[in-house]
Amino acid sequence: MSEGTPKGLSTLAVSAGLHASKQESLGPHHERAHVAPIFLTSNYEYENAEAADAAAAGNAYIYSRYANPSVEAFEQAVATLEGAEAACAFSSGMGALSATLLALAEGGPILVSDGIYGGTTEFVSSIGATLGMTPSFVPGWDTKKVIAKLSQRPKVLLVETISNPLLRVADLPALATACAQFGVAFVVDATFATPCLNRPLQCGATAVVHSASKYLAGHGDVIAGIVAANTHVLAKIHQYRKLIGANLGPFEAFLALRGLRTLPLRMERQCANALQLAERLSLHKSVRAVHYPGLESHPDHARARKLLRSGGAMVTFELQDLKAARSFYDRIKVIRRAASLGDVASLVTHPVSFSHKGVPEPVRLAAGITDGLMRVSVGIEDVEDLIADVEQALA
Ligand SMILES: *Cc1c(COP(=O)(O)O)cnc(C)c1O
Repeated sequence: MSEGTPKGLSTLAVSAGLHASKQESLGPHHERAHVAPIFLTSNYEYENAEAADAAAAGNAYIYSRYANPSVEAFEQAVATLEGAEAACAFSSGMGALSATLLALAEGGPILVSDGIYGGTTEFVSSIGATLGMTPSFVPGWDTKKVIAKLSQRPKVLLVETISNPLLRVADLPALATACAQFGVAFVVDATFATPCLNRPLQCGATAVVHSASKYLAGHGDVIAGIVAANTHVLAKIHQYRKLIGANLGPFEAFLALRGLRTLPLRMERQCANALQLAERLSLHKSVRAVHYPGLESHPDHARARKLLRSGGAMVTFELQDLKAARSFYDRIKVIRRAASLGDVASLVTHPVSFSHKGVPEPVRLAAGITDGLMRVSVGIEDVEDLIADVEQALA
């Protein structure tokens, strides 16, 4: 970002990546499309031998598994919002996470936070482990415990800015400092936080990863992932994308970029709605506890105030028992019953019946996942409608 460039995220979001494409000029006077076009092409053609040489030297497009202008537009936009030198987009968040971990762990052990996305836990425990990337686990929000384990010098530390489903907040600057001290690559999955709440690279992280299927795209219509980092780190990750082939398609890139244009606007509304909903829930007699970093009752409230621009748009709360939780789930009308998050529409999930169904009871209870736990991804609806919906479902 050069001097004099506007730095407000909303301003950046509506225009970032627009001129990323090397194929942007469409008209005889070099007039160009107002939005980055969808380049549905596998190959690129060359005018002559000299142009083909330029491609072979890596200075022109060759094949869309390596690079595609529509995908580059999305990558440049996310890099801009994260304050990164560059970004690399994938066909899913898992594609982005697995490539990043494999590239940075180089077949060595890794340290992973508890309460991390289920697919990530499964990946590191199964495929990752068979490739030498043996994981050990630590509560990522407990800085002392993480630092104690960093002294064993794993290759990578992976944490989520905000954990799932109890929304614990990691102290990214402190962890980054410790990682630098021990020579450990620090990878942050910022899917729940988005660059609107916190920008991990500015805190000293090595790479920031998103499931763009969630807030970045934001409309529940695309599966995509992305990693942002400096160009040196990203070159290694790009090599994995190219050879594993988990590249994003141009149409999905277009949708993700279109969604990204309104990210700051959506997040502002979603976070404001979430705070109001969390406050109302915490006053309700049927609600045993509310887990929301924006409330003073949350164990990481002080840290969230320091590191995050708001408490986020996820709200988790506890009802009496399994029966109460399932009845709430059945009765809810405006909030939709769906497993994912980060959509413009509010979504509710019951972790015990869904994401944590296969987890042995003692393990999930130790992680704080009780029978009555509900997780809401708060959308952009009128907050009065959300509150009324929750109250009728609790009645
Ligand atoms: C959804 C999610 C992922 C996986 O992303 P996909 O796009 O579904 O592959 C990774 N991390 C977090 C925190 C997620 O919520």
